[in-house]
Amino acid sequence: MKLNDLSLFRQACPIAGNWIEAKDHQATTIRNPATGEVLGAVPDLGATETEEAIRAAVIAQKLWAKKTAGERATILKAWHRLMIENIDDLAMILTLEQGKPLVEAKGEIAYGASFIEWFAEEARRINGETIPGHQQDKRILVLRQPAGVVAAITPWNFPNAMVTRKVGPALAAGCAVVLKPAPQTPFSAIALAVLAERAGLPPGLLNIVTGDAAAIGGALTASPAIRVLTFTGSTRTGELLYRQCAPSIKKLGLELGGNAPFIVFDDADLDAAVEGAIIAKFRNNGQTCVCANRLYVQDGVYEAFAAKLAAAVEKLTVGNGLDQNVVLGPLIDENAVLKVEAHIRDAVANGAEVISGGNRHSLGGNFFEPTVLRNVDDSMQLAREETFGPVAPLFRFRDESDVIEQANDTEFGLASYFYARELSRVFRVAEALEYGMVGVNTGLISTAEAPFGGVKMSGLGREGSRHGIDEYTELKYVCLGGL
Ligand code: ADP
Repeated sequence: MKLNDLSLFRQACPIAGNWIEAKDHQATTIRNPATGEVLGAVPDLGATETEEAIRAAVIAQKLWAKKTAGERATILKAWHRLMIENIDDLAMILTLEQGKPLVEAKGEIAYGASFIEWFAEEARRINGETIPGHQQDKRILVLRQPAGVVAAITPWNFPNAMVTRKVGPALAAGCAVVLKPAPQTPFSAIALAVLAERAGLPPGLLNIVTGDAAAIGGALTASPAIRVLTFTGSTRTGELLYRQCAPSIKKLGLELGGNAPFIVFDDADLDAAVEGAIIAKFRNNGQTCVCANRLYVQDGVYEAFAAKLAAAVEKLTVGNGLDQNVVLGPLIDENAVLKVEAHIRDAVANGAEVISGGNRHSLGGNFFEPTVLRNVDDSMQLAREETFGPVAPLFRFRDESDVIEQANDTEFGLASYFYARELSRVFRVAEALEYGMVGVNTGLISTAEAPFGGVKMSGLGREGSRHGIDEYTELKYVCLGGL
């Protein structure tokens, strides 16, 4: 592996400040999804190690919570600086285990680091309130205190940023974390922990447990010491964890699946809409929960948009993310390819037409051609399920009320996008879409400054912005009497 600093690639998990090495343990090998090559191994840990991590976190959290916000911020800022200084190595590790092109991986590291910086700044602003007393001798104070120990479970599509978006606010608030990264992409999370240690984060505050998901998840959710569970992943697993957290009444942050509509109205700037669609649909090869899943195009511009999009898609280069000019890497695994194939097969069997791509890529393995389908309708599987791959299905609509109805006709409510120029329409549509996030005339909406999250089956809570710290704090009201 070509890294400037080989110590960032660590095949070990930090628990209670000790590193449990894969070589001393039963271990799982991790493969590069572009080549199938073995990258390394991580230890197979389970309930015992998770409980050990929780015990360490409980002790570490008490001391951490006593530090001033400024002291916590100084360590977070040092961590942020180290992430930026090591951006090339972190991006290389990310591309090797996840597959996304190196340029995109660097973008993710910068984005991931921005959450650490943002929440380092927010640490100083976890302000309480004073409320006018309800009786003459009374004063009311509201404190915002750390919630305690946090369990974080993260997915493989953003192996760096989904970690920082949770760990950043948790640490800023004075919490400690036990993190279970996705089994496909543990090395990015581990590299972050190496840098956190280097930044001076005390032992026991960021523990990582790799291994049996159900055993680790079971131990995390069963523990009364864990006060917050923050999860990003599928709705199926989110629902399971929600249930498992019920007996101990944990606070929950859930970022689950989406089924994002991307709407092109006839007054849209079509070239801008194509550019936005490429970003919203094909970023990370379609493997993000905010990726456009259904593209609705108004009658009058349907043919023109379809032709322009197909032409733009033909230009997207597929290949190993380490190669120059590659825009689309491999899908994460064979199952992902099978799902894409099944959705295309179902659509075509029900009358859709492939106007670009449609097949496995000639590179073989997990590579798939970027695909555009026309004549898609809501009878097809891809209208209801997230494809999580490089397929752009073009639905047709008549007018505003028709498309709002179609766009909202899903159990999900994470991201949505639309392109239009008329101002009153922009407000009407933005307000009518039942989604946590709306991109208007843009295909890229995620940023540390904004509250990311969904409604309906897409989850609970928000990440990023000043709201992103709420899950990690508890309000305490102090009533002062006899004054
Ligand atoms: P995907 O199918 O895309 O991998 P998941 O929701 O299964 O989506 O995975 C997201 C994260 O949830 C991963 O870290 C995965 O290991 C974890 N996970 C899956 N099942 C469980 C479980 N039963 N308990 C705890 N974590 C789980």
